[in-house]
Formats: sequence, C-alpha cells, structure tokens
Amino acid sequence: MRAIRRFTVRPVLPPALAALNDLALNLRWSWHPPTQDVFAAVDADLWEQTGHDPVRLLGAVGRERFEQLAADETFLADLARAEADLETYLTAPRWYQRSGGGADGSGPRAIGYFSPEFGITAVLPQYSGGLGILAGDHLKAASDLGVPIIGVGLLYRHGYFKQSLSREGWQQETYPVLDPDELPISMLREPTGEPATVSIAMPGGPDLLARIWVASVGRVPLLMLDTDVEGNPQQYVDVTDRLYGGNSEHRLRQELLLGIGGVRALRAFSRITGHEAPEVFHTNEGHAGFLGLERIRELTVDPAGPALDFDTALEVGRASTVFTTHTPVPAGIDRFPRSLVAQYFADSGACPGVPVERILALGSEDYEGGDPAVFNMAVMGFRLAQRANGVSQLHGQVSRGMFQGLWPAFDEAEVPIGSITNGVHGPTWVGREVFELAARAGVAPDSEHVDAFWDVVDSIPGEAVWATKRVLRQRLVEDARRRLAKSWTKRGAASAELAWIDSALDPDVLTMGFARRAASYKRLTLMMRDPERLKRLLLDPARPVQLVIAGKAHPADDGGKKLIQDIVRLSDDPEIRHRIVFLPNYDIAMAQPLYPGCDVWLNNPLRPYEACGTSGMKAALNGGLNLSVLDGWWDEWYDGDNGWAIPTADGVEDVDRRDDLEAAALYDLIENEVAPRFYDVDASGVPTRWLEMVRHTLKSLGPKVLATRMVRDYVRQLYAPAAATARALNSDYAGAVDLAAWKRRVLESWPGVRVEHVESSGVGDSPEVGALMSTRAFVALGSLSPEDVEVQLVHGRTTAEDELLDTRTSLLTLAESYEGGRHRFDGAVALDSAGSFGYTVRVVPRHELLASDAELGVVALPTG
Ligand SMILES: *Cc1c(COP(=O)(O)O)cnc(C)c1O
Repeated sequence: MRAIRRFTVRPVLPPALAALNDLALNLRWSWHPPTQDVFAAVDADLWEQTGHDPVRLLGAVGRERFEQLAADETFLADLARAEADLETYLTAPRWYQRSGGGADGSGPRAIGYFSPEFGITAVLPQYSGGLGILAGDHLKAASDLGVPIIGVGLLYRHGYFKQSLSREGWQQETYPVLDPDELPISMLREPTGEPATVSIAMPGGPDLLARIWVASVGRVPLLMLDTDVEGNPQQYVDVTDRLYGGNSEHRLRQELLLGIGGVRALRAFSRITGHEAPEVFHTNEGHAGFLGLERIRELTVDPAGPALDFDTALEVGRASTVFTTHTPVPAGIDRFPRSLVAQYFADSGACPGVPVERILALGSEDYEGGDPAVFNMAVMGFRLAQRANGVSQLHGQVSRGMFQGLWPAFDEAEVPIGSITNGVHGPTWVGREVFELAARAGVAPDSEHVDAFWDVVDSIPGEAVWATKRVLRQRLVEDARRRLAKSWTKRGAASAELAWIDSALDPDVLTMGFARRAASYKRLTLMMRDPERLKRLLLDPARPVQLVIAGKAHPADDGGKKLIQDIVRLSDDPEIRHRIVFLPNYDIAMAQPLYPGCDVWLNNPLRPYEACGTSGMKAALNGGLNLSVLDGWWDEWYDGDNGWAIPTADGVEDVDRRDDLEAAALYDLIENEVAPRFYDVDASGVPTRWLEMVRHTLKSLGPKVLATRMVRDYVRQLYAPAAATARALNSDYAGAVDLAAWKRRVLESWPGVRVEHVESSGVGDSPEVGALMSTRAFVALGSLSPEDVEVQLVHGRTTAEDELLDTRTSLLTLAESYEGGRHRFDGAVALDSAGSFGYTVRVVPRHELLASDAELGVVALPTG
C-alpha cells in the first residue's frame, strides 16, 4: 500500500531538553566530540542505529526516555555545558575579528561561496567526492576562523547515489529519497511565515520556483535551493533531483538555479534576516558561474539597482568575484551547446534585460583551437572574475597552460591564474584519539593555537603513539568487517559463507588505504598490474601488507565500473581476501575511521591529472605516511622524508608500458622501503624509524595541510584584495565607470602602441657578474599617455632559441617626451648571476585597479 501523503512528526522535547534541538540543528556537532557524546548519552543504541544522526535520533527517542533525561542531573549538566560551548563558539571574536578582517583589516563584510556540492557530514549527503568535501571543509574552517562566509548550493532530493555490489562485483546504484524534515536544515521563511522563494524565467514555460533551506555550519549559514515546491511542473521539480545526473539541459537548469537563483536567495536571506550582503562572490568551479550574469542584471536593469551600462557593471562584478578552477582535464570542463544557452537567456529569459549576445561572448571559445558551437563555463568564469586560482602549485601551472588561449599575447607563466593549495578540516578528519594524545601532552583539543599541536609531537613517547595507532587500526578493521558482512549478504551470500569475515584484516598488519573516485586517471587498478607480485606482498609471512580499497564510479561510466569489478574480483579470491578488501559506498561515514586506521595512504594518479587531492592530507594528520605519485599537493610538499614518491615514467607515450613501469616502482617501494621500515621494531615492539617519519610528517605537513591555512590564504590573497578593488569601484560607481571607459580607450588605442627602438650600454660583449646594464627604450604610445602604461625591462636566462626563462621584470621610467606621442623610458639592471642572459622591453597597460599585467590581454613588444 502506498501512502497518499506523508509528513514527519517533529519530536516535542521537554523544556529542560530544548537545547538538544539547537545542538542538533547546528552542524558544529559533527566536528565536536563532546557534543556527540551528549547525543550518544541520549540513547547509545539509537545513536549507532541512526548512523550518528542527531535529528533522526531525537525523532526516534520515546517520551519516557526524554522524561528520564529531563530529571538526570548529570545529563543536564553535560547538555548545559555543550550548549554554552556552542554559544561561545558562535559569538566570541575569532581570528577574523581579532585581525580586523584579514591581514590589514580590509576583509569583506561577507563572502558568498557558491558550490554545486557540499560535503559536511554523512547525515547531509549532498556531495559526490573531493569538490564537495573541499567546499564543506572550506565552510567549517571559515567558521572556525570567524570568516563571514555564506554558502550557496542546491538541495538534491536524492543526493548522490549509494553504491552496492552485485554478486559479480558490478556497481549498483540506488537513490534513496531524502526528506528535508529529517535533515539538519530549516526552511527560510518570510516574516509572514510563508516559505521564502526565488524564481527564474524559463523559455516557453512558467517560472522555475525554488524554496530555500538553511543549514548552520557553525557560524556559517549554507543556503540550499530546492525546486520540489508546489506550483512547479514535474520537469522543474526534477531540477534538484540528483547531483550530476541527467543531460546537458538538465545540468544547465541546475547551474542557472545555482548561479542566478543563488544570488536571488542571498538577497532574500539578507532581506529577511538582516545578514550583511556579500561584498565578494566566490565560485567554486565553473558550475556556479552564472552568478556573475545575475549581478550584471542587478547593476544594469534592476529597478532597485544603480542602472549602470554593461561594461561598467562587468567591472564591478569582476572586481568582486573570485573563480577557482578544479580540473586539469580538458574533458572535465563544463561546456554547453551555445544554442541552448542562447535559448535560456533570450529576451525575457533567466536574466531579462542583459543582452544575450554579450552573455554568449563571455562563454565563447573565440581563441585558437576553440569550438565556436560551445559555451564554456570555465572561460566565462575567467572573464567574470578578476581573480582566479587553481588548487595546488602544479595545478596552477597546468591551468595557466590550459587557458593560455585566453591571453595569447602573454607567456604561460604570466597567465593570470594563481594557486592556493587545498587543505582539510582538522577537527572533522583527525581521529579523536589523536587529539587525546595531544591533550595528554597539554594541548587543549579545541585550542586555536594550532602550532601548539606540532610543538608537542616530539614529546609524546613512541609507545603511546604506537598504542594509539593500533586502536585506530583496530577500529578500522571492525568497521571494515561490518561493511564486508553487509555487502556479502547483499551480494547473496548465506550466513554460513561469512565466517571468514571475522578474520578479515588484522590490526597488527601494515595497513594501506586507497580510496577515490574510479575516474580512469586515478588508476584504481594500477596495484594489480602484476597480480602475482601483489599476492606475494599481501601474503609475505614476515612482513605482510593489507589493503583497504573504496571508490565510486560515476553511474554513466562503465569503464570505471569495470575497474571496480576487477578489484572486487581480485579481493574475492579466498587466498587473499583477508588481506585485500573493497568496501562499497565510500562516503564521509566510511572515510572518518578509514584515514586514521591506515599506516600508508596510496595514491597513483596519472600525473598531472590530480588537481590537488586531499585524502592523503587527512591520512597525514592522523600519522599516516603518503606513498604517492608526485602530483597535486604531494608534488609541492613531499620533502624526501615525510613519505615516499612513486617514480613516474613521464614522457613514456605507451600507456601500458608507463603503467607497467610505475606499478613495478610501486611494488619495489613497498617491498624494499615501506614494509621493512614498518616491521623494524625495537624491544618493546615499537618501530622507531617508522615513527620518526610519522613525527616528521606531522611537523612538516601539519601546518600546511589544514583548511584554516587555506582559508586564511583565500582571505589574504583573494577575498581582501577583491573587496578593496570592489570598494574602490563601488562607492558611487564612479570608479567602475572610469575603469570601464579607461579599458575601452586603451584597447581602442593599443594598435598605436609600439616599442620602436632599444639601446643598452655598460655591459660590452662579455660582461661580468655585477655589471650594470643601462637601457633606453623609445616607445610610441599613440593617443595614450605615459601614465596609461608600464614600460618594462623583462630579463632572464635564455634558451638556444632565445626564449626567455625565469623572467624578472624591472620598470623603466619616463625620461623624455617628444612630438607625436613618442617617449623615452630609461632604467638599469644589475647582472647578478653568471650564465646566459637575455632581455626585451615591452609595454603593458597600467591602472592601479588591475590585478595583473595580462588583464587586458594586450602587450607591445619590439618589432622585427
Ligand atoms: C577526502 C575525500 C574525498 C577526496 O579525496 P581525494 O584525495 O581528493 O580523492 C572524496 N571522498 C571522501 C568521502 C573524502 O573524505
């Protein structure tokens, strides 16, 4: 029988327990063990059964139990303490307030952070993988630092899928319905009590409506748009059905909702709650990029706005927008048929009044090798944001190469895409026992003085570290056995067939973790390149290794599912199944015991396709050692002693051969370095040389891999400068009007800018180190004046083909002006190192509100 209607009855708590509701509705509990203890004390069994879900726990507890608790002095005291702690956390000044909002007190009053997915806790499953987890960690770290971020995302009725396995090891997907009433979110309501909604005009149909849910991530509100509302036809209700499902048009609708609906939701949120409006907008990957178009609409045609022209509005929008790109794989870039985008933005479409041809131009691949028929969300992202970054140094470099077509006049190194390396949220990912170890050494678990943690690393005795590591390994083994039993039952095994699971994995064996999406570049199956050799490593009588593997394939990716099946089949082999396990449904709940339980975290992507990767950082914070290809973050922070680098066969074209070489190198490392060190124990059973590496890992990586470091970097390098430029433009928009007019004038006049003649003196033919080279450059500026440009002496080493490398720039200054817009610029540079030296002179536009020399894309170099 089917119900004709369903609703969720919210529990009524006795007044003495009202604080439980507040604690359940602020997700800070998810990274605060003392608050989790309070929920566990409500009913330990239900806490386990609900998968540590406070909202469902409170819904399941009976009245009688509540009455007992309301009379339990000990419980009430713990509850009051947790409530007071939350109150302090939410209101006391934190880093951002103490530092006056960033380094120089110029930080934005609020930042809108847009992302298609947010991975905050297992009980709010609105993420698929790394991008979402990163967004969740960004919000949590912002909350810990007091950075005034407002998250903006979608609420997917089915989230991502749940993974299970068929008997044959083929991935099965299910999409359980999430009932918002059972999630830790509340609906944004107008003062009248009506749900707050936003709407977007759709081609040939009624408006798309969405309501707004708010999740509280500590101090950070997260707005989530949901189209499951009365008044929407079914095809619109389905817009927020699931994450990354459906065809191109479906995705376009989701992205319109996220970007345009997201800005409208922020406005509603500010209007209703009085919250500061964002001064800076951050788009986490291209999917949310349409937010820039809605802001242009507000600034140009919205009756409540300042009625700027398009170019001025574009400057205002760009100044206050930050774009982070996340993929080094061209196929991973989000692109739509141009005609489809045209249809949705036609006259009375999603952004009425904003000219559709200007919109199309923003996303057009109008560079060499571009496809004229597509609308590219990353390209639009760069054009709508003055500041852009990749997510590790290597990824920044790869991105500069990938998008150089947008700045063809500049060398790759000068493409204005920086990098901020990702980080992970310590309190979410570090095992509680690890914090307890630090506490025994005198560092309070929620100390804001993070350096104190690294300071005590050397003072904790090896026995204590090793005992803790065993506890963590044991916990992982138990969790894995539970998951295996469940999975095998689902795969159709009879209970008599499950006995072996009781001895699957061993808490005293070197444990290696490997969990990631089954995208082909991640090479899930590299380790089984030589199955016999792998078997020998697993079954080594003296130094065995065990592997815990997990990962989901995208539902449409049969190639990825095949990789999973290969791994599953291997791990089904009775000879090795106690040493290699595949755990279905990799998610936050699995990840939390997984990282602390591993001794080694393995990662072997095809370099350089891993933009950053964060799972190895989580392992490192728990005293795990990384064994990884030098890609993403590991390329940057591997120092020779904090783990191992798997040598890569870069440049070997034959993919099979490359995989063979890299797999062999991996086996060699495990056999000759990793396992011998792990099993080399002293008289009390402690592997001292291993622990040396663990301590060094914590001290060298700990301070770098935290999301608080990442968020501080975003504040200092991107948010505060963006706010400063935006303020310079926005006070009365005169700055933006001027900047837009200046850009137009410079671009129109640029054909008249030339470097006509360059003279140097003081160095002769064979100069020595220390010689001073004087340079005079004669330039023609046409109708521009010397203040509009910068004349630069660019110098560096040279290749045999006279290409300049590792260039540095010195300014030449105006010395004399002549008739007809010609000028002489002079300067000098000291030759401070031996070897090849080359230089050139160039002219670039100069304005104090530009963020990079390449911003206008034009440069003048000597001709001939
Ligand atoms: C950390 C994490 C990821 C991302 O890890 P990568 O190293 O970027 O692959 C994905 N899923 C879950 C559940 C995680 O916790």
